[in-house]
Amino acid sequence: MVLAGGCHCGAIRYEVEGDPLTHALCHCSDCRRHAGAPMVAWTMYPEASLKVTQGVPKVYQSSQHGRRHFCGNCGTGLFYYNEEMLPGIVDIQSATYDAPGAVPARAHIQVAERIQWMESAHELPQYQRFPPQE
Ligand SMILES: [Zn+2]
Ligand SMILES: [Zn+2]
Repeated sequence: MVLAGGCHCGAIRYEVEGDPLTHALCHCSDCRRHAGAPMVAWTMYPEASLKVTQGVPKVYQSSQHGRRHFCGNCGTGLFYYNEEMLPGIVDIQSATYDAPGAVPARAHIQVAERIQWMESAHELPQYQRFPPQE
């Protein structure tokens, strides 16, 4: 399986080949703050599976060994590397796939740092678009 993806503005494009090692929804505070979102979905692959086919991501050192690659133009978060914890591995933000539903998520991780209300977020009222105006 080959999946293609990219950032919001289209400056960065990539392809990833093969089956992911896992796909996890991360609730850690580093992911939350870097993304500006309550959680981030990551698919994990051997480093060699990923080819950036267009553009050059910017690299942000988000922790001692953590490196977050993102589009310097539009800000979309794309890849995560950690040579210390995950040598030879790349994590890809699966929401940046052209077909983000292609690989189902398998687990929630780092829930020790989860925002409290996220635990029951699936129970909130749901609307196809927006709530009706009253
Ligand atoms: Zn971009
Ligand atoms: Zn995280």
